[in-house]
Amino acid sequence: MSSKSPRTTRPESHGPEILGLTSQAFVKESKALGIPKVDAISTYRDFYREGRGDGDWFALEDMPMGRREDEGETIKFTLRLGSGEDVRHETESVLIPMQGRGGRRTRTLCVSSQIGCAMGCDFCETAQMGLIRNLSSAQIVAQWFAARHILGHEVNNIVFMGMGEPMDNIEQVIGAIRVLVDHNGPSIPSSKITISTVGRIDGIRRLSELVSEDGFHRLNLAISVNAPDDEVRNRLMPINRAMDMEALRESLRAFPLHGGSALLMEYVLIPEVNDSLEQCDRLCRWLEPLRCSLNVIPYNPRRDSPWCAPSETSVEAFVRRATENGQFTKRRGTKGRDVMAACGQLGNPEIRRRQRRSGREAAS
Ligand code: SF4
Repeated sequence: MSSKSPRTTRPESHGPEILGLTSQAFVKESKALGIPKVDAISTYRDFYREGRGDGDWFALEDMPMGRREDEGETIKFTLRLGSGEDVRHETESVLIPMQGRGGRRTRTLCVSSQIGCAMGCDFCETAQMGLIRNLSSAQIVAQWFAARHILGHEVNNIVFMGMGEPMDNIEQVIGAIRVLVDHNGPSIPSSKITISTVGRIDGIRRLSELVSEDGFHRLNLAISVNAPDDEVRNRLMPINRAMDMEALRESLRAFPLHGGSALLMEYVLIPEVNDSLEQCDRLCRWLEPLRCSLNVIPYNPRRDSPWCAPSETSVEAFVRRATENGQFTKRRGTKGRDVMAACGQLGNPEIRRRQRRSGREAAS
């Protein structure tokens, strides 16, 4: 691994910060500093395309690589944040190998949008940390920079399924997406970016506005549904007590889907909570008015979990029943696009445990 690190404070008397700015914004800020457009664009391209960040054109604050853990070809890594009171906190990202179309090898990067999370979902390790802080657009983009230019891997897809609820930090998430799709920068097609939410309706509406803009029509939206009705969902996901499944479905019906795109509905299958065939039928009825694909994800028990992982037989039975009901359904595999999970089901519990500890120490 190279010793290069994305950095984010501006050394004195240098150009504008670059992480978190679109090329247009970077050119504008450079111009105010007397830097010609042609030079600013070339610096921007060098930085994002080649990972070249030396020189006086921009400045970045320190955000060094923290831990890196390899599990087979999957790489989990953290970036340390800032200084002062933030110094103990880290972003958490996962780089996952995939099998793309025609057997092509691709990689998906799962990024965090927050440190911790305020949503309190019952099945999730991150929930136990509470919300520590939001990440800035720059800190989100830095996770891509690290994967591409420090770890040295091409990133084909980006999913907002790491720590945090993206809709809780929607403006910074949108700012990061604008950079990620920038043709002078990372140039990731919007169709290769997925935002996963527990179903914050205000956030879904805000994202609808972005998706209506040229260049963002094919952005993907994934919803952590995880329940066939309000009773089960209220228990698993506190957000549902404020925004119930009917309201959620109405907001999804209004979400603009362009071309052949569909919503991705995530369903973490938990034994004796939401895995019966009768519950499957009810879920399918709820999904019926939506153009969507259903992704069934076997529950991955968190620390001190009251539930175990489902049996292979019950996962297969649930998927078969949903398919028989006419719902396009996949189960999460170990390879391919369907490795994408609900938030709280990817990432690294051990890193989260350490973050929780350091958060407590920082607060004491
Ligand atoms: S599942 Fe997602 S939204 Fe829910 S607590 Fe975990 S990180 Fe937050």
